[in-house]
Amino acid sequence: MSKPSIRETDESTLTAWLKSHNQPAFRAKQIRDWFFSKMAVSFDDMANVPKALREELAQDFTPCSLTPSTVLRADDGTVKWASELSDGAKVETVLIRAPERSTVCISTQVGCPVRCAFCESGRLGLVRNLKSVEIIDQVIIASHELGHRIDNVVVMGTGEPMFNLDNLIPALNYLCDMENGLGISARNITVSTSGIPNGIRRLADQHRPWNLALSLHAPNDKIRSQLIPEKNRHRIAEILAACTEYREATGRMITFEYVLIDGMNASEGNARDLARLAHLARAKVNLIPLNNGSTTWKAPSKEQCQQFLDILTASGLQATIRLRKGDKIKAACGQLVAKKSPEKPDTPPNEAKPPRRDKK
Ligand code: SF4
Repeated sequence: MSKPSIRETDESTLTAWLKSHNQPAFRAKQIRDWFFSKMAVSFDDMANVPKALREELAQDFTPCSLTPSTVLRADDGTVKWASELSDGAKVETVLIRAPERSTVCISTQVGCPVRCAFCESGRLGLVRNLKSVEIIDQVIIASHELGHRIDNVVVMGTGEPMFNLDNLIPALNYLCDMENGLGISARNITVSTSGIPNGIRRLADQHRPWNLALSLHAPNDKIRSQLIPEKNRHRIAEILAACTEYREATGRMITFEYVLIDGMNASEGNARDLARLAHLARAKVNLIPLNNGSTTWKAPSKEQCQQFLDILTASGLQATIRLRKGDKIKAACGQLVAKKSPEKPDTPPNEAKPPRRDKK
């Protein structure tokens, strides 16, 4: 049986453990201070805790579920970790630094079952879901790098978050918990989805003001069918209905993520159709010029991107072109790649689950 994470152990359990090991109760506060405020990733980080106690803790708890095996740093301050999990699978996490606030982009699955045509992350298919603690510890390693708790989290790394809500929801609750978690504001957390209506509704049912980003990428179902394989693709009308429920349940505005691909979805007519959908959903739009991956598709020119943006903003929408960060270390959107554990099958464990509230 795997050991519990020290970070997920509540104060009373830790105090009881200390008592059973003849340790004074005040150590609980010290330990929690290291693992919450100081974002420790090893028991040896705890300089004011005796070595013998650190060794005993290591026998019964894990300090971090991830072991960063590769760390890449780009000139723009972006950092990308490939971390090894206890079963040998690997997952990637990205820290994006900005003067006003830094953001960590976390993964929810090893691989991804959706397999969007432009995305490196989905190329292997799904290997497995990440556990809650493996989701949380990605925020910890980014905070450890910064030297303080990170305030902005985007769930936009490898995986379709809506296929791992059983682990994601407890992880997000932990990240936002002021008493027993990291105390990150729910409004600074964004969950991105390729558009899984039953998952969007289940997240709405939590009534937490997490932001929702929809990876729409196309202004109509015909173009979308060239980007997202049929198995996990839903009709745009059905997705937007779920987004409306989400907005009404949480009070949060939806964001459309839209990867601009030359000759595919970047014409003036496409911009007008996208504007119509965004007004319908009362959404804002993030345009993302395609990052160079292994497809032959290309991003439109800067001028075309600007023209596309101008059509959206002229219609009264809130829209931006997202700056490309971490391109050189392949940490930009759609470039994260999870390594498959050799003994794991390429079978999505959750895919067989029936949709919860989806009307087919
Ligand atoms: S874009 Fe997102 S949903 Fe699509 S394959 Fe990549 S990780 Fe999966």
